[in-house]
Amino acid sequence: MSLNTKYIFVSGGVTSSLGKGIISASLARLLQARGYSVAIQKLDPYINVDPGTLNPYEHGECYVTADGAETDLDLGHYERFLNVPTSQANNITTGRIYETVINKERAGDYLGKTVQVIPHITDEIKRRVKLLGEAGDYEIVITEIGGTVGDIESLPYIEAVRQMKWEMGTNCIVIHLTLVPYLAAAGELKTKPTQHSVKTLLEYGIQPDVLVCRTEKHLSQEIRRKIALFCNVQVNAVIESIDASTIYDVPLMMLKEQLDKVVLAKLRLPNRHEPDMEQWKDFLGKLKNPTSEVHIGLIGKYIELKDAYKSIAESLIHAGVANECKVVVDWIHSEKINAENAWSMLNNLDGIIVAPGFGDRGIQGKIETIRIAREKKIPFLGICLGMQCAVIEFARDVLGLKEAHSTEMNATTPDPVVDFMEEQKKITIKGGTMRLGLYPCRITKGTKAFSVYGKSNINERHRHRYEFNNKYLKRFEEAGMLATGINPDSELVEIVELKDHPFFIGVQFHPEYQSTVANPHPLFSRFIKAAKEKAGSN
Ligand code: GLN
Repeated sequence: MSLNTKYIFVSGGVTSSLGKGIISASLARLLQARGYSVAIQKLDPYINVDPGTLNPYEHGECYVTADGAETDLDLGHYERFLNVPTSQANNITTGRIYETVINKERAGDYLGKTVQVIPHITDEIKRRVKLLGEAGDYEIVITEIGGTVGDIESLPYIEAVRQMKWEMGTNCIVIHLTLVPYLAAAGELKTKPTQHSVKTLLEYGIQPDVLVCRTEKHLSQEIRRKIALFCNVQVNAVIESIDASTIYDVPLMMLKEQLDKVVLAKLRLPNRHEPDMEQWKDFLGKLKNPTSEVHIGLIGKYIELKDAYKSIAESLIHAGVANECKVVVDWIHSEKINAENAWSMLNNLDGIIVAPGFGDRGIQGKIETIRIAREKKIPFLGICLGMQCAVIEFARDVLGLKEAHSTEMNATTPDPVVDFMEEQKKITIKGGTMRLGLYPCRITKGTKAFSVYGKSNINERHRHRYEFNNKYLKRFEEAGMLATGINPDSELVEIVELKDHPFFIGVQFHPEYQSTVANPHPLFSRFIKAAKEKAGSN
């Protein structure tokens, strides 16, 4: 371990969904802007080894890192805010902790000892937290603890934090995020839930150093003093986190509340210089002052839970900023679209995205949507399953292969234009076995894809089992659907595009995982540009 690494834990009280991920990412962004090297990590208290096998309705999108880890969506916020890639080490679940401990036990590593939650599970938690600081040689590691303090599930994590604080003294602090609700009938902000949740932490032996209070109304000095007194923290360590119109406001709100300065003082670290947030402010300025507007349809089957498409939604915000354009997203359920209503449901859109996904539900609606986008020349971006659906639609409608399908939906189709990858045929275990993480792609010069990226060699992140079936490639290309991005090692098709269309691109990979505030992704930016042109020509 780098002896100098400092550890910050972020816990949550009162209720979930208070925005621990955004607060952690915002604090990290400010510390980074002061010149510190910072990593953020998420500890998830569920027993799944990773969220890869979870239905998106459970916890929202599964975020994929460059090294192919399937992780919690908060890692997406970390990357978008910090512009630094995360990895497997940045997301740990209870399942993974237990898996490691049980494997060690089976290997005989505990030499006959009784294996217990304390110390074996807590030691493994501490080891994983410290490993991140060690491996990256970070000055500061921020660790967000999923769930709410008091949950049975998160107890071993809280105990590990208590031990680390005890071992490390001022090299380790705890920020506790709570809710200060406003009772309209009483016309007052109430501090009691915060007091109770800090008491719960104290029962476990942890005195929080900083309280971040989520609230709808500003906290008066009086309220801050009251919270400080009852919760045993300094008044300047009671930080207000008022509801924001966009998550991208939060770093500047935290700067105003001096969260970064308070944290550095507690860790006995110098402020170095004032945080350089110029680029961030420029981004926010453009986000809040758009000069045009486009309507984008996002067609998917999990749209009841917008978190299922978190990275796509954020990428669209970044792309809007790059074009100084407000992106209004119409979330459309693919199951609601059919051949009869497709045009009336889609004709007011300036651009269409068909989302990633798994399984048969809603597929026909996606195919009908793509037919409209292709025929009516609406800018189109198909991501992963969205690209595969574009291939199926083209095969059926243009090549006349009426029963063409992906073998994921129809194992006996006469025309498997999308098929299982050879190496996937042997795999029976579901967890962590897809084609995952960063793969290279070579783009043909002179194509739309090349004009988007401006270079031949790119790397994008993947998460899928099925592929374009190269046996059909010649027929597709002759009819006008070109494979313009290819994996140079395996020849797998990564990008398809239509020749005679203002913007029709399908990608087998997930560009949304690589769009950040500092670097909006070119595919989304160019897609929004095309949508803007369409909106302007209406
Ligand atoms: N279900 C498809 C596959 O496994 C697409 C996956 C996705 O959209 N991420 O290939």
